[in-house]
Amino acid sequence: MALLSVEKITAGFGGFRALDDVDLKVGQGELVGLIGTNGAGKSTLFSVATGYIPASSGRVHFAGQDITGLAVHHRVRRGLARTFQVPREFSNLTVFDNLMTAAPEQEGEKLSALVFSRGKIRQEEERLTAKVCDVMDFLNLRGVEGELAGKLSGGQKKLLELGRLLMLEPKCIMLDEPFAGVNPVLIEQLCERVIELNQRGIAVLIIEHNLAELARIVPRLYAMDRGRVIAHGSPDAVLADPAVREAYMGG
Ligand code: ADP
Ligand code: MG
Repeated sequence: MALLSVEKITAGFGGFRALDDVDLKVGQGELVGLIGTNGAGKSTLFSVATGYIPASSGRVHFAGQDITGLAVHHRVRRGLARTFQVPREFSNLTVFDNLMTAAPEQEGEKLSALVFSRGKIRQEEERLTAKVCDVMDFLNLRGVEGELAGKLSGGQKKLLELGRLLMLEPKCIMLDEPFAGVNPVLIEQLCERVIELNQRGIAVLIIEHNLAELARIVPRLYAMDRGRVIAHGSPDAVLADPAVREAYMGG
């Protein structure tokens, strides 16, 4: 059974249909690509799957449960999380604090229990600090941990965005154009990190315009055009598909 299953999703803005009967599946631990020309509906699909935008029809299932009506943070708690095309870091916080504030509240942790137990607060802080350090080590962000996030390069902001996602301990991450505006050296580094996360068992759905880079790392690919999935399968098959070629030629 698929980990994430988007079934017959239709969604729009006003009268405009941005998604039309879209089906997409990501298996447990799978690495899947999503391509499509500008305005095809890729980011909107991420928004519907993660709960930022409601679907007008269709269902979203995650880990065997129907999550169609759940709020964003409830989906995050179940392990489904996304990045945004334009990183949403807190520019006036340091890299360290950006990661610290990304951690979800401990489930079942009563605020009052924390207020009355300093030991517990310290314990929780130590746990989070260790986690932030792990994430910074993994993403090579240690050197900039004290920098304000607003001062980072475009590529470092993308790394931080990925780091904020990892603080959520996700089962499935949806990455919206993680390589856009990133220099080639950092792209290579990001690519490696994404592959390693996948090898650790995290399912990944990745939107990317750099088709060559994407085809190199994903075994399976979806292509969208004007709100619909027009092809899916191996990268070679999808890139050779006449409908995909026509969409990219501006047909
Ligand atoms: P992609 O990520 O594939 O480039 P999007 O999902 O961002 O495409 O957009 C799909 C379509 O929906 C586009 O025509 C876009 O203009 C429109 N759209 C996206 N977000 C909004 C919004 N918040 N309000 C109105 N229209 C939107
Ligand atoms: Mg987009």
